[in-house]
Amino acid sequence: MNTSGNAFAASQVQSPSADRSEAATRKYIWRDGEMLIARNIYAEFPPQCIICGQENHCSQLPCTVRKPPGAMLLFLPAAAAFTPYVKANPYVCRVHRRTELRARWLGRALLTAAIALFVGPLIMLSGLERPPTWPVFGLACSVPVLYGWAIYRIARTRLVRAKHIKGSDAWIPGIHPTVLDGCPQLP
Ligand SMILES: [Zn+2]
Repeated sequence: MNTSGNAFAASQVQSPSADRSEAATRKYIWRDGEMLIARNIYAEFPPQCIICGQENHCSQLPCTVRKPPGAMLLFLPAAAAFTPYVKANPYVCRVHRRTELRARWLGRALLTAAIALFVGPLIMLSGLERPPTWPVFGLACSVPVLYGWAIYRIARTRLVRAKHIKGSDAWIPGIHPTVLDGCPQLP
């Protein structure tokens, strides 16, 4: 029995749609089950919000994708600077952009306050012959503020977080299914 004709017909029916062929040309980004793999700097994201899948009013938002920071950060806040990361430039809608930028701003404000409370009083104490006592309070306050920043960094919700990072690739969960559909399968 010759089934090659049927097989050919079936392959025609299952031929990739325009969307899928577009997905195949997308570079340095892949789908691995329910996760998206993005390569550092080079990943080309589909033009829709990675969180809600919306296609209108989306624009790219540079992100540093890290694994969730562990409790280690509470003992050594400086460890935050040494965790591996992947730079990505996904598309996000207005709502998710606003939420993420607000959260980033609060984190930076806490860190800036901690540094200012530490460095400012140090300069005052070293520069004056008879320094007032209040800079010492500033110094003392810088420690809890720094811990506040570390806790915030651990606990805050983020637009994207990596499940794991291998070399220059990040495996990212929580991506909208339609965005995953727009990415080529992991070869
Ligand atoms: Zn969105």
